[in-house]
Amino acid sequence: MIAKANGSRKAVSELIKWGPGQLPSYKTLYYTISGSVPGFSNEKVVWAVTQAFAIWAPYTPIAFVRRTGAGNVTDIPIRFRKDNRTQLANALIEVNTSFTFFIDNNSISASYGPFDLIAVIAHEIGHHVFRSPSGEWPEHATSGVNIMNPSFGERQIIRQPSNQDIKFCQRRYGVAPEGSMISALLSNAIRLDNGTATNFRPSNTLITIAATAKTSCTFEVKIDNIKGKKVNAVDIAGRTSMGEVLFKRVEIWDGNTQLESQFPLFKIRRAVKKFKTGISTKKVCRSNNLKVIIEVEFSAKRTLSILSVQAETIPAELVLNS
Ligand SMILES: [Zn+2]
Repeated sequence: MIAKANGSRKAVSELIKWGPGQLPSYKTLYYTISGSVPGFSNEKVVWAVTQAFAIWAPYTPIAFVRRTGAGNVTDIPIRFRKDNRTQLANALIEVNTSFTFFIDNNSISASYGPFDLIAVIAHEIGHHVFRSPSGEWPEHATSGVNIMNPSFGERQIIRQPSNQDIKFCQRRYGVAPEGSMISALLSNAIRLDNGTATNFRPSNTLITIAATAKTSCTFEVKIDNIKGKKVNAVDIAGRTSMGEVLFKRVEIWDGNTQLESQFPLFKIRRAVKKFKTGISTKKVCRSNNLKVIIEVEFSAKRTLSILSVQAETIPAELVLNS
């Protein structure tokens, strides 16, 4: 569990909003990673950290970029190390590796835990990076399921910020300005695996994936006209005919460069739901199209409809300072 805040509760500062003609530049913050997490390769730990930044990235005008060389100046040092305190992690972003964590699969057996490593890192980034402009360390969320809750349950998954979390992260650097949305042509979606127990049917308006039994499906959609643009996030919307379907993995590629890869572990049920995969680095896209690879998992016979896959772009007039 994450220790409860011991500071006094302070009033929430006014959100910074941008009017016409006063759009902000995106600010770049640099992070470093040290230490390791038992049971995971360093590569996978880096992946988890990247995803934690990607959770916040769509909502506030910040690019998060990793630095790897020794002696580099860092805004956000992330450390993994064992200690014998009862905290999962703290606001200096020291993650206590005496606990057992999960990244893409929460069924790991543990006497206590496992805990969501991505959510824990995202929570501490929240404290460390989004202090109010006057330097106050933000308090925790008070109700509902939030990344900024004071404690996380065993096996609990939190990979999308709540409205409370989003307001929280915008206190320091403001609201990310809205760019235009570019939609994928769903009829050109292609299936990437061998299609066991699944009928994959793309059309102009939706992609229908009908599973006849417990199975998974990996497919690819392309978002055209992306060259020269900076992408803030990719939004996916869907619904099911009955029961729930799990979104296991979303990868976003600009040619041969992977911009982001996320294990959203996000469930879509009957009602239409949308979720975001944020892009931390906000790099300019070099290819004509953005490739989005999506893996979904069906626990039983289900039909999933993908209603849209859209790239949120950053307004062209905004200049990155990196
Ligand atoms: Zn906290």
